[in-house]
Amino acid sequence: MGRVLRMRKRKKKNPKPDLYKNSTLEYVELVKWMKELGWKPTCKLVSSYFQNTGRGMIAKENIFAGSTIAKIPYRLLITVKTVLESKIGWIFSRHKFFTTQQVLSVFLVWERHLGEFSTWNKYINCLPKTFSCPAYCNNIDWLPSNLKEKTKDIQNNILKTYHAVVNIIDKKKCDHCNTFLSSIFAYEMYSWAWCIVSTRAVYLCPSTILQSYVLLSDENNLALAPYIDFFNHNCCAEVKAYIVESEGIYQIETLIPFSKNSEIFINYGPLSNDRLFIDYGFIIPSNIQDIVSFSYDNVLDAVNEIIPSNKYINEYRCRFLKEKKLFTDVSCHADGLSWDCQALIFVFSCPPDVKIEEIKRSIFSNKFKNHSWDIICRVVKVIINKKLNEYEKESSELMIKHGEITKMYGECFTFVRGLLGEHIKLLNKCALSLETEKK
Ligand SMILES: [Zn+2]
Repeated sequence: MGRVLRMRKRKKKNPKPDLYKNSTLEYVELVKWMKELGWKPTCKLVSSYFQNTGRGMIAKENIFAGSTIAKIPYRLLITVKTVLESKIGWIFSRHKFFTTQQVLSVFLVWERHLGEFSTWNKYINCLPKTFSCPAYCNNIDWLPSNLKEKTKDIQNNILKTYHAVVNIIDKKKCDHCNTFLSSIFAYEMYSWAWCIVSTRAVYLCPSTILQSYVLLSDENNLALAPYIDFFNHNCCAEVKAYIVESEGIYQIETLIPFSKNSEIFINYGPLSNDRLFIDYGFIIPSNIQDIVSFSYDNVLDAVNEIIPSNKYINEYRCRFLKEKKLFTDVSCHADGLSWDCQALIFVFSCPPDVKIEEIKRSIFSNKFKNHSWDIICRVVKVIINKKLNEYEKESSELMIKHGEITKMYGECFTFVRGLLGEHIKLLNKCALSLETEKK
């Protein structure tokens, strides 16, 4: 027997066992249940554990661009309609407004309480019990200020929508076990469910299947989709996700190929690490969609430092900034500045005698004179240096709190540290790119 043949034989006997053995029992049961309800796999995929991304999906065959990686029948989607048709739907029949996320969260708490009596039991069993997103932390005092503010807003919203539900269920009891609904709908359970919806719901273009007779204060465009939440996000993945009304399904197509034995990714959208961390509880190192945002004050302070004589801007310039909404994306990325950022600094730094028409011409043609571009770069360098100091200070403050926080929020803490590191890396790269770039 030749050496090559021997190797082949050995390979056949032992086909990469490590990659497939991590398919959990929960996943196997989920798939079995979904098949009973008419779901069919479209590709050979299986759940596995990955060192960098945690639980995800692995390809058991080569997946070509254009392949449908998942098709989920309507009856397996949890939408507002599903909730309204369930035993708990009466909560939302009052003449009050609810958010889609609130409705889905209540449903999850209820179905989790029902345990094996729940139709959705196999799906609920696959859901995580805890999260690394900051909204799930009881104590957020240790977070850097910017993250703390954003997290506080989310937590206030969770609390507000929770109280609205608790007021409705009041003194009612569960049909199954006679427990007061108020103790079933404990805040901890509701915030768990809220995080499930935040981290796993898919966006559905408003369509006929989502029609419901409940007052919603936002658009009815979220659904929980069993199986699909096994796929992880990657900024390089390209997918098309949509409803096929004629087939009664929601499906995801990959626009890029994946080779056998590699992890299959989908794309949640062009999200910066800040957004990924706040909404989903993870970051992607060297994320190509990453940005660092600057505030209006960051820009104004830096302009004043470089050109102390520019103390104010006239009303024409102010009106122009507002009309064009040039405060929307004031940020930098690894390769330079956002368009809003360049325009805002340019408007702030132009000498008072430059007419607004001339300013508009430069901005919309995206061509700045050498002198103007030099000033923009000098202003940005001031902002970048201040931001670098800020992040480095926050990093070292975080390390002081290391021991006590990691005990409670280990994973979340690691991501916050990683996030600050990514910000520092990005700012340094941006500074370097401005050195070389000439307009
Ligand atoms: Zn009960």
